[in-house]
Amino acid sequence: MESIIITIDGPAGSGKSTTAKIVAELLGYIYVDSGAMYRAVTLATIRHKCETIEQIIHLLDSLHIELKMSPQGQRTFLNGEDISEEIREPIITSKVSFISSIKEVRTAMVDLQRKIGAKGSIVMDGRDIGTVVFPHAQLKIFMIASIHERAKRRLDQMKSKYSEHISDITEITEQITNRDYADSHREIDPLKPADDAIMLDTTGMSIQEQCDFIVKKAQQLIFIE
Ligand code: C5P
Repeated sequence: MESIIITIDGPAGSGKSTTAKIVAELLGYIYVDSGAMYRAVTLATIRHKCETIEQIIHLLDSLHIELKMSPQGQRTFLNGEDISEEIREPIITSKVSFISSIKEVRTAMVDLQRKIGAKGSIVMDGRDIGTVVFPHAQLKIFMIASIHERAKRRLDQMKSKYSEHISDITEITEQITNRDYADSHREIDPLKPADDAIMLDTTGMSIQEQCDFIVKKAQQLIFIE
Protein backbone atom coordinates (compact mmCIF):
# COMPACT_ATOMS: atom_id res chain seq x y z
CA MET A 1 0.00 0.00 0.00
CA GLU A 2 1.44 3.37 -1.03
CA SER A 3 1.40 6.28 1.36
CA ILE A 4 -0.17 9.56 0.37
CA ILE A 5 -0.47 13.10 1.77
CA ILE A 6 -3.94 14.29 2.67
CA THR A 7 -4.50 18.00 3.26
CA ILE A 8 -7.57 19.38 4.99
CA ASP A 9 -7.97 23.15 4.88
CA GLY A 10 -10.85 25.41 5.72
CA PRO A 11 -12.11 28.21 7.96
CA ALA A 12 -12.33 28.10 11.76
CA GLY A 13 -14.81 25.64 13.20
CA SER A 14 -15.42 23.79 9.93
CA GLY A 15 -14.61 20.49 11.66
CA LYS A 16 -11.12 20.04 10.19
CA SER A 17 -9.23 18.86 13.24
CA THR A 18 -11.82 16.42 14.58
CA THR A 19 -12.22 14.90 11.14
CA ALA A 20 -8.50 14.88 10.29
CA LYS A 21 -7.68 13.12 13.57
CA ILE A 22 -10.18 10.31 12.96
CA VAL A 23 -9.26 9.94 9.27
CA ALA A 24 -5.58 9.57 10.25
CA GLU A 25 -6.46 6.96 12.86
CA LEU A 26 -8.59 4.96 10.41
CA LEU A 27 -5.82 4.95 7.79
CA GLY A 28 -2.97 4.40 10.27
CA TYR A 29 -1.54 7.79 9.26
CA ILE A 30 0.01 10.57 11.34
CA TYR A 31 -2.21 13.55 12.11
CA VAL A 32 -0.61 17.00 12.09
CA ASP A 33 -2.43 20.07 13.37
CA SER A 34 -0.54 22.94 11.72
CA GLY A 35 -2.62 25.56 13.56
CA ALA A 36 -1.03 24.38 16.83
CA MET A 37 2.35 25.58 15.53
CA TYR A 38 1.09 29.12 14.87
CA ARG A 39 -0.56 29.05 18.30
CA ALA A 40 2.77 28.01 19.87
CA VAL A 41 4.55 30.98 18.26
CA THR A 42 1.74 33.26 19.47
CA LEU A 43 2.13 32.02 23.04
CA ALA A 44 5.89 32.62 22.88
CA THR A 45 5.41 36.21 21.65
CA ILE A 46 3.03 36.90 24.57
CA ARG A 47 5.39 35.36 27.13
CA HIS A 48 8.31 37.37 25.77
CA LYS A 49 6.20 40.53 25.66
CA CYS A 50 7.09 41.17 22.01
CA GLU A 51 5.92 44.59 20.92
CA THR A 52 7.30 44.85 17.40
CA ILE A 53 7.45 42.58 14.37
CA GLU A 54 11.27 42.75 14.57
CA GLN A 55 11.13 41.32 18.09
CA ILE A 56 8.83 38.52 16.92
CA ILE A 57 11.14 37.65 14.03
CA HIS A 58 14.15 37.70 16.34
CA LEU A 59 12.38 35.40 18.80
CA LEU A 60 11.70 32.77 16.11
CA ASP A 61 15.31 31.51 16.15
CA SER A 62 15.04 30.54 19.80
CA LEU A 63 11.80 28.56 19.42
CA HIS A 64 11.81 24.80 19.17
CA ILE A 65 8.32 23.56 18.36
CA GLU A 66 7.55 19.85 18.38
CA LEU A 67 4.36 17.86 17.85
CA LYS A 68 4.25 14.45 19.53
CA MET A 69 1.60 11.79 19.50
CA SER A 70 0.27 10.54 22.83
CA PRO A 71 -2.72 8.36 23.80
CA GLN A 72 -4.68 11.64 24.32
CA GLY A 73 -3.87 12.79 20.79
CA GLN A 74 -1.33 15.24 19.46
CA ARG A 75 0.60 17.23 22.09
CA THR A 76 2.41 20.47 21.30
CA PHE A 77 5.78 21.30 22.88
CA LEU A 78 7.55 24.64 23.01
CA ASN A 79 11.22 24.34 23.94
CA GLY A 80 10.44 21.06 25.70
CA GLU A 81 7.37 22.29 27.61
CA ASP A 82 3.94 20.77 26.92
CA ILE A 83 1.76 23.77 26.00
CA SER A 84 -1.15 21.82 24.46
CA GLU A 85 -3.78 23.28 26.77
CA GLU A 86 -2.42 26.80 27.02
CA ILE A 87 -2.48 27.37 23.24
CA ARG A 88 -6.29 26.86 23.21
CA GLU A 89 -6.90 29.80 25.56
CA PRO A 90 -9.02 32.63 24.09
CA ILE A 91 -6.11 35.11 24.39
CA ILE A 92 -4.10 32.98 21.93
CA THR A 93 -7.06 32.57 19.56
CA SER A 94 -7.56 36.32 19.48
CA LYS A 95 -3.92 37.04 18.53
CA VAL A 96 -2.95 34.09 16.33
CA SER A 97 -4.20 35.51 13.01
CA PHE A 98 -1.93 38.53 13.36
CA ILE A 99 1.12 36.42 14.24
CA SER A 100 0.44 33.99 11.39
CA SER A 101 0.29 36.84 8.87
CA ILE A 102 4.01 37.62 9.38
CA LYS A 103 6.07 36.33 6.45
CA GLU A 104 9.03 35.08 8.51
CA VAL A 105 6.71 33.20 10.87
CA ARG A 106 5.05 31.46 7.91
CA THR A 107 8.37 30.55 6.29
CA ALA A 108 9.59 28.91 9.51
CA MET A 109 6.33 27.00 10.09
CA VAL A 110 6.00 25.85 6.46
CA ASP A 111 9.58 24.46 6.62
CA LEU A 112 8.71 22.57 9.78
CA GLN A 113 5.47 21.23 8.29
CA ARG A 114 7.27 20.02 5.15
CA LYS A 115 9.90 18.24 7.25
CA ILE A 116 7.23 16.46 9.28
CA GLY A 117 5.30 15.47 6.17
CA ALA A 118 8.24 14.48 3.99
CA LYS A 119 7.68 10.75 4.36
CA GLY A 120 3.98 10.87 3.51
CA SER A 121 1.28 8.86 5.35
CA ILE A 122 0.03 12.05 6.95
CA VAL A 123 -3.17 14.01 7.31
CA MET A 124 -2.37 17.69 7.91
CA ASP A 125 -4.99 20.33 8.56
CA GLY A 126 -4.68 24.10 8.34
CA ARG A 127 -5.31 27.01 6.01
CA ASP A 128 -2.63 26.75 3.29
CA ILE A 129 -1.63 23.10 3.41
CA GLY A 130 -3.07 22.20 0.00
CA THR A 131 -2.06 25.48 -1.67
CA VAL A 132 1.42 26.17 -0.25
CA VAL A 133 2.81 23.49 2.05
CA PHE A 134 1.99 20.43 -0.08
CA PRO A 135 0.78 21.68 -3.47
CA HIS A 136 1.40 18.17 -4.89
CA ALA A 137 -0.58 16.33 -2.20
CA GLN A 138 -2.61 13.49 -3.67
CA LEU A 139 -5.82 14.30 -1.79
CA LYS A 140 -6.90 17.84 -0.88
CA ILE A 141 -10.10 18.58 0.99
CA PHE A 142 -11.46 22.07 1.65
CA MET A 143 -14.04 21.94 4.42
CA ILE A 144 -16.71 24.55 4.83
CA ALA A 145 -19.87 24.89 6.94
CA SER A 146 -22.39 27.63 7.58
CA ILE A 147 -21.27 30.31 10.04
CA HIS A 148 -24.16 29.38 12.35
CA GLU A 149 -23.10 25.74 12.49
CA ARG A 150 -19.44 26.62 12.99
CA ALA A 151 -20.24 29.01 15.85
CA LYS A 152 -22.48 26.39 17.47
CA ARG A 153 -19.75 23.73 17.25
CA ARG A 154 -17.18 26.10 18.77
CA LEU A 155 -19.58 27.02 21.58
CA ASP A 156 -20.21 23.34 22.40
CA GLN A 157 -16.46 22.72 22.40
CA MET A 158 -15.86 25.64 24.78
CA LYS A 159 -18.68 24.58 27.10
CA SER A 160 -17.07 21.20 27.58
CA LYS A 161 -13.64 22.75 28.25
CA TYR A 162 -14.14 26.02 30.06
CA SER A 163 -17.29 25.49 32.09
CA GLU A 164 -17.03 28.81 33.98
CA HIS A 165 -16.09 31.12 31.15
CA ILE A 166 -18.59 30.75 28.36
CA SER A 167 -19.04 33.32 25.64
CA ASP A 168 -22.40 33.59 23.91
CA ILE A 169 -23.14 32.55 20.35
CA THR A 170 -23.14 36.16 19.05
CA GLU A 171 -19.67 36.79 20.46
CA ILE A 172 -18.31 33.53 19.03
CA THR A 173 -19.88 34.24 15.62
CA GLU A 174 -18.15 37.60 15.58
CA GLN A 175 -14.77 36.14 16.63
CA ILE A 176 -14.93 33.42 13.96
CA THR A 177 -15.99 35.90 11.27
CA ASN A 178 -13.11 38.25 12.16
CA ARG A 179 -10.53 35.45 12.23
CA ASP A 180 -11.71 34.06 8.87
CA TYR A 181 -11.60 37.53 7.35
CA ALA A 182 -8.02 38.06 8.59
CA ASP A 183 -6.91 34.57 7.48
CA SER A 184 -8.41 34.84 4.00
CA HIS A 185 -7.36 38.45 3.32
CA ARG A 186 -3.75 38.36 4.48
CA GLU A 187 -1.12 39.05 1.85
CA ILE A 188 0.90 35.85 2.28
CA ASP A 189 -0.60 32.38 1.82
CA PRO A 190 -4.22 33.34 2.52
CA LEU A 191 -6.90 30.80 3.31
CA LYS A 192 -8.35 29.63 0.00
CA PRO A 193 -9.10 26.30 -1.67
CA ALA A 194 -6.46 24.82 -3.97
CA ASP A 195 -7.66 24.57 -7.58
CA ASP A 196 -7.73 20.80 -7.29
CA ALA A 197 -9.30 20.63 -3.81
CA ILE A 198 -12.53 18.76 -3.19
CA MET A 199 -15.04 21.06 -1.51
CA LEU A 200 -16.80 19.43 1.43
CA ASP A 201 -19.71 21.33 2.98
CA THR A 202 -20.17 19.74 6.39
CA THR A 203 -23.29 21.71 7.35
CA GLY A 204 -25.71 19.08 8.62
CA MET A 205 -23.19 16.25 8.21
CA SER A 206 -22.14 14.04 11.11
CA ILE A 207 -18.45 13.52 11.93
CA GLN A 208 -18.87 9.91 10.84
CA GLU A 209 -20.20 10.99 7.43
CA GLN A 210 -17.34 13.47 6.95
CA CYS A 211 -14.72 10.86 7.83
CA ASP A 212 -16.31 8.17 5.63
CA PHE A 213 -16.28 10.57 2.69
CA ILE A 214 -12.57 11.35 3.04
CA VAL A 215 -11.46 7.80 3.88
CA LYS A 216 -13.27 6.46 0.81
CA LYS A 217 -11.52 9.02 -1.43
CA ALA A 218 -8.17 8.21 0.21
CA GLN A 219 -8.59 4.48 -0.20
CA GLN A 220 -9.36 4.88 -3.89
CA LEU A 221 -6.07 6.75 -4.30
CA ILE A 222 -4.00 4.50 -2.05
CA PHE A 223 -5.01 1.40 -3.97
CA ILE A 224 -4.45 3.00 -7.38
CA GLU A 225 -1.08 4.61 -6.52
O1 C5P B 1 -6.56 25.66 13.14
P1 C5P B 1 -6.51 26.72 14.22
O2 C5P B 1 -7.81 27.43 14.42
O3 C5P B 1 -5.93 26.22 15.50
O4 C5P B 1 -5.48 27.78 13.64
C1 C5P B 1 -5.17 28.95 14.36
C2 C5P B 1 -4.70 30.03 13.41
O5 C5P B 1 -3.43 29.69 12.87
C3 C5P B 1 -5.59 30.32 12.20
O6 C5P B 1 -6.66 31.20 12.51
C4 C5P B 1 -4.60 30.95 11.24
O7 C5P B 1 -4.40 32.32 11.52
C5 C5P B 1 -3.31 30.22 11.56
N1 C5P B 1 -3.02 29.13 10.63
C6 C5P B 1 -2.42 29.46 9.42
N2 C5P B 1 -2.04 28.48 8.57
C7 C5P B 1 -2.25 27.19 8.87
C8 C5P B 1 -2.88 26.83 10.08
C9 C5P B 1 -3.28 27.84 10.93
O8 C5P B 1 -2.23 30.65 9.13
N3 C5P B 1 -1.82 26.25 8.02
